[in-house]
Amino acid sequence: MADHVNVITDECIACGACEPECPEGAISEGDEIFVIDPDLCTGCDDCVAVCPVDCIVPRE
Ligand code: SF4
Repeated sequence: MADHVNVITDECIACGACEPECPEGAISEGDEIFVIDPDLCTGCDDCVAVCPVDCIVPRE
């Protein structure tokens, strides 16, 4: 089990940097911002490392 699941906040600028970094294919482009599928996210934080605006955070 993942110890956490990440979520993308409204601060996302839809740059797309995170999508190819996800080894689970959990990130996709939504209507306005990118989104993480919580059923696929394993909390590896690879996306957190590349986000230029630090808008990927652990889901509460
Ligand atoms: Fe949005 Fe950050 Fe992903 Fe860029 S890297 S699309 S700003 S969540």
